Formats: sequence, structure tokens, C-alpha cells
Amino acid sequence: MSEILLEGRQLTRRYATDAGRILTACNGVDLMLGKGETLGIVGESGCGKSTLLRLLTQLERPDAGRLLLGGEDVTGLKGEQLRQSRRHIQMVFQDPAAAFFPRMKAGDAISEPLRNFEKLSRQEINKRVAQLLELVQLPKDYAQRYPHSMSGGQRQRLGIARALALNPSILVCDEATSALDVSVQEQIIRLLVDIQRQRRLSMIFVCHDLALVQSLSHRVMVMYLGNGVEILPGDQVWNKACHPYARALLDSVFAIDMNFSKPIAPLEGDVPSPLDLPAGCPFGARCPRFMERCRSEKPPLVPVAPDHQVACHLYNMA
Ligand code: SF4
Repeated sequence: MSEILLEGRQLTRRYATDAGRILTACNGVDLMLGKGETLGIVGESGCGKSTLLRLLTQLERPDAGRLLLGGEDVTGLKGEQLRQSRRHIQMVFQDPAAAFFPRMKAGDAISEPLRNFEKLSRQEINKRVAQLLELVQLPKDYAQRYPHSMSGGQRQRLGIARALALNPSILVCDEATSALDVSVQEQIIRLLVDIQRQRRLSMIFVCHDLALVQSLSHRVMVMYLGNGVEILPGDQVWNKACHPYARALLDSVFAIDMNFSKPIAPLEGDVPSPLDLPAGCPFGARCPRFMERCRSEKPPLVPVAPDHQVACHLYNMA
């Protein structure tokens, strides 16, 4: 991996419920993001992806674990130091319709981060807005339009422009294409990849669509019940993913040329409640390869090949 830009070590986030119980949304997640790298994160709803993003973007502080940005521990930053640190990681949101204040023109929305962080004249701001619109391939006069008068794809381009206004080193895309038509999704993905290459941005791309994530990510992390259960290079996902949960996700992807005579083996059982985490492997209740050891021992994430780690006792001989 190239120079490490962002590192999460054993990131854990728990919430107290009204009933006095503890919900564990993130349970000791380790991850690294290199400069210019795209890390894809996949997993079903409720697996802790959104909480992990809130920890990585420093919108929330972990209850345990550390967050390092550019090698510096930023876990406990407060006040102005925290505000300045946050500008390096910016986010593109899932729903571009809800991401903008409806009475704010596009130019004002894009320039809001600039007005918050930099002392620029009106003329300089207008120039930066025009550059950002050009970067996301929107006409300059869109600065005077309201987001609701644009299509979903155009609004998402605005969202990307706003996220890039402060020239961050990391862009976090939280289901950034899920609300768009498939043809528009492709345009937005191409735009993100082009911008990433031009600026050597690092990107975290969270999505339900495993096929999409693996096609654009250098590495992919699979999450289950608040845990990172497998991390591997994007181009090896189809052939080399080996965690039973990752395999189940892959087996459930529909393809145009799929073999319909091959029976689909749905996962049995329900996802355990994050209020009541199992003692051993988080996937134990649904795993077709469950062993006695899995009941009481949580498998650590261990390397099985260069750049490939798995949290499963089948691959941990220690
Ligand atoms: Fe299945 Fe055991 Fe591996 Fe968990 S540790 S995924 S239960 S085999």
C-alpha cells in the first residue's frame, strides 16, 4: 500500500438505549487507507457502515480505539483543532435531494465550506465556484439555480463539488449512487474516478452493490454486525474472498449470464441483534461452516495472503 493516510485501530462505538441496554454499532474495526487509494466497504443494512463513517469523519468519537490521520492521533481533538482536522475528510451523501437547503442557490451551497473556513473576497469565491462546477462538468450558470430545479445526477454533481471545495485529501461517499438511475450512477462513478486520479484523492466508497464496489475499489472491506470480517484487493473479490459471509454475499449477486440451474443457497437465520452480541464469531448463528470453537472465541482478523485478511477460525490456525 502507498503512504497510509487514514488508520482506524480497534474503533468501537456503543450507544445506550432508553431501556438501559447497550447497542454495539462498531465492534473493534481495524482499517487503513492509503494515499490515492479507494477502499470499498460493503455489508447489509445495520452492519455498522454508517457508524464507522461517522467515526472516520470525526462526527462522533469512538468509545474505544484510535483514529490516525496522516500519522497523527486525532481521536481526542476538540474545538478549533477538531474543526480544522475535519476539513481534510469530506463526505458525499446518499440522497442529493436532502443534502441541500432548498432556499440556497447552488453557488451558495457549494461555497458554504469556503466561507466557513477561508477568508476570501466575493470575487475569489465566485471564481472557485466556477472552477468547482467545471470540475464536476456542470455549466457555470448553474451557480444561480436552485438544487430542486436540477436532476438527481446534477444534484449529486453539486454534492461532489461541495465536498471538494476545501480540497480534502479524503472523500467519503456514503451510498452516493444508490438513489440514482443506473445510467446516471455510471456517470457519477466515472466522474469520481476521474477526479480521484487527477487529484490523487483517497476515497472510501460505501455501497450495498458488491459488484460496483469491487469494480472501482483497490481494496474492499466486508462488514458484518459491526465487525470487519474480510479485507482484500478489489480485483480478487470474486475469486479469492473466503469468509463464509463474503461468499454468501457473492453467491447472492445476480448476473446477466448467471447459471439458473445452480440452486441459490440463502443464508439461514436472522442477523443477531447488536443489543445482544454473541460471545464468539458474530456470524456464528448463520454460518454453514460453524464449529464448536466459533461459539465462544471471536476470530481475529489475520493475514491469509499479501493484502488479504480474514476473521474466521477456518483460516486462523493459531
Ligand atoms: Fe463461520 Fe466459524 Fe468462520 Fe465464524 S469463525 S465465519 S462461525 S467458520
